[in-house]
Amino acid sequence: MAEIRVGSFKKINTELISAAKTIAEKTGGNILVATVGDGIDQAIEEAKSYPVHKIFAVKDPVLARYSTQGYASALEAVIKEADPAVVLFGATAMGKDLSARVGARVDAALMTDCTEVDFEDGALKVKRPVYSGKVYANVVSTNEGVKMASVRPNIYPSSDKSGESAEVVEVSVSISEDQIGAVVKEIESTSAGKKDVTEAEIIVAGGRSLKSEENFKILEQLADTMGASVGASRAAVDAGYAPHSQQVGQTGKVVNPKLYIACGISGAIQHLVGMRTSKVIVAINKDANAPIFQHADYGIEGDLFEVVPLLTEEFKKMLGA
Ligand SMILES: Cc1cc2nc3c(=O)[nH]c(=O)nc-3n(C[C@H](O)[C@H](O)[C@H](O)COP(=O)(O)OP(=O)(O)OC[C@H]3O[C@@H](n4cnc5c(N)ncnc54)[C@H](O)[C@@H]3O)c2cc1C
Repeated sequence: MAEIRVGSFKKINTELISAAKTIAEKTGGNILVATVGDGIDQAIEEAKSYPVHKIFAVKDPVLARYSTQGYASALEAVIKEADPAVVLFGATAMGKDLSARVGARVDAALMTDCTEVDFEDGALKVKRPVYSGKVYANVVSTNEGVKMASVRPNIYPSSDKSGESAEVVEVSVSISEDQIGAVVKEIESTSAGKKDVTEAEIIVAGGRSLKSEENFKILEQLADTMGASVGASRAAVDAGYAPHSQQVGQTGKVVNPKLYIACGISGAIQHLVGMRTSKVIVAINKDANAPIFQHADYGIEGDLFEVVPLLTEEFKKMLGA
């Protein structure tokens, strides 16, 4: 299931194609892409550049913006038409919402938030973090029908672009605005041009120690230099230094970047559950005993107001920014 936002084909889709490839190589099956929306022709063209067999398209002005019922009806129609063995979603806000609804409708086994997908003896086998990432569970589907999984962003690499103009199959679905319980009227972007923390490959996150919204700018400067997004602890969000959309943790977002730089964040368990699966964690803290250092790959003991501007300068030199 592809995600298309304001006409563009999101990166998670290219990761899902890679994940699907590992299954298709085992089963000899084909990779199919489901696209839903209005004004999605450009995204469909982009999907064609990847090694996929067919692209199913449900186009309707009612589906211009994401709605649970609308998209569930559209994907259900695609599943009936395409008869897939496995359906993959991104473990994103949309994917989590949609997979549960569609899974119930088509009576599928759904495994959520997976970090690995595989297929053996007719069963979907996945690995998924449980107990807030403390351990990984290996889960195997046991039902006969279609199997579904949502895959965490930033786990699989983006697929190569070796596609040869996949066939596009249009699927129609009759759905009216009345059947959609809630309609999104408008979307306002909060961080223009920046990736959401759930999609970012690099995150520079700040905590209570930043002391003000104004001071968060030093993190933004470092983030801009590195092409990163800015994240925050709940203490920073509660104090009004950063918006809730940037909050990482139990009551914020679960992120999985290649690099997470925690600046003046103590490492409370509720923060760790949101970022502990990051591939490389760097902690900057003036307290050598801060718990975050136990989870960090690299630690810098020091005052973030000195360390962060120095890092920005060094990265500028390195990256020629
Ligand atoms: C139900 C529940 C849900 C929660 N959900 C979340 C959540 O989603 N996300 C989340 O983050 N928290 C969450 N929390 C809150 C969590 O328990 C912590 O209170 C919070 O993470 C602390 O934020 P902090 O690390 O920014 O602040 P603090 O714990 O106050 O840590 C500040 C750190 O900055 C260091 N420091 C201070 N000044 C400097 C400086 N100049 N340079 C370098 N280091 C400095 C200090 O040594 C300290 O380690 C939740 C709590 C509860 C009860």
